[in-house]
Amino acid sequence: MSVFLDGALVVLPQSAGGPQITSLRLFRGRVIALGVSPHRGEKILDLQGFTLYPGLINAHDHLELNHFPRTKFQERYDNAHQWGEAFLPKLNEEPFCSLRALPLRERCRVGLLKNIRSGVTTVAQHNPLHRPLRQRCTAPQVIGRYGWAHSLHFTPPETVQAHFRQTPPNAPFMIHLAEGTDEVAAGELSRLQALGCLGSNTILIHGVGLSRDDQVQTLKTGAGLVWCPSSNHFLLGQTAHVEAFSAAGTLALGSDSRLTADGDLLDELRAAHATAQISPAALFKTVTTDAARMLRVPDRGALLPGYRADFWLIAGQPTDPYRNLIDLCPEDIQSVWIGGQKVYQNRAYSPVH
Ligand SMILES: [Zn+2]
Repeated sequence: MSVFLDGALVVLPQSAGGPQITSLRLFRGRVIALGVSPHRGEKILDLQGFTLYPGLINAHDHLELNHFPRTKFQERYDNAHQWGEAFLPKLNEEPFCSLRALPLRERCRVGLLKNIRSGVTTVAQHNPLHRPLRQRCTAPQVIGRYGWAHSLHFTPPETVQAHFRQTPPNAPFMIHLAEGTDEVAAGELSRLQALGCLGSNTILIHGVGLSRDDQVQTLKTGAGLVWCPSSNHFLLGQTAHVEAFSAAGTLALGSDSRLTADGDLLDELRAAHATAQISPAALFKTVTTDAARMLRVPDRGALLPGYRADFWLIAGQPTDPYRNLIDLCPEDIQSVWIGGQKVYQNRAYSPVH
């Protein structure tokens, strides 16, 4: 049976006319019509006074690491690999030793919950796709088709090459790159290119040390950048220059894990906005349509006919929903839906149906 959502302020992409009060018809988990009248006998949800945002896409997380405390051992690093080298031995000390011993299922659950309660309905895992993340009905859904390598520092070059070659061209290949402000970071894009691993499906995570030339090279290939500003500020004291990627539609936002980041994707939107590099409307694209294209899930990120019915609700109808998104926190989100099914209800609110 189809479901008719009536009267909500629907936050559409600017390219589709922007936010508007309209109706949606859902059928078999997808949006099938917009701005139509209800059929007789159809299930109708009255959403007057509500705003309906498309499910957000978090382009970078390490889902099994979100139960760790935010950690660093000096005020600032020149390169994230210095932090990584300092952190690895600590895994055998408390509290990390005990936290590592928790069942993987529980650890993944923490990461999934962090995401769903902040309106994320699709998340990209950077690490193996652990069994608890593979189930079809996880909330949010974890992207299943991807290739990855950790970084040029921690992954041998031949392994980076092998993983890149094993990644189908229509799946994203993700790698931490230029996560630093030193010469090593500045040289990493050239190294990746020399390995033959900079393709149109390559997604660079962080990119703080990318020069203007590096940006031009990356844009030429069609590769994308995932921006994690709060993590960058925490470790490096600065973040990437993202305007060119945003203008090209190849910029996505990632929360990273709580080990180094502020928290969830809404926190990350706030950190991104604070850099004053791109507008709230451009930021909205980084967590919806542009992220969907980069991660090769083109039917997500917009509430338009043909798209999967992933969305979340807040009370009220702000005059600028793109700007309003920057100020939201999980407590504002009433419920989250994936494929037209409610998967999360904030207990502080009564259900809308
Ligand atoms: Zn990361």
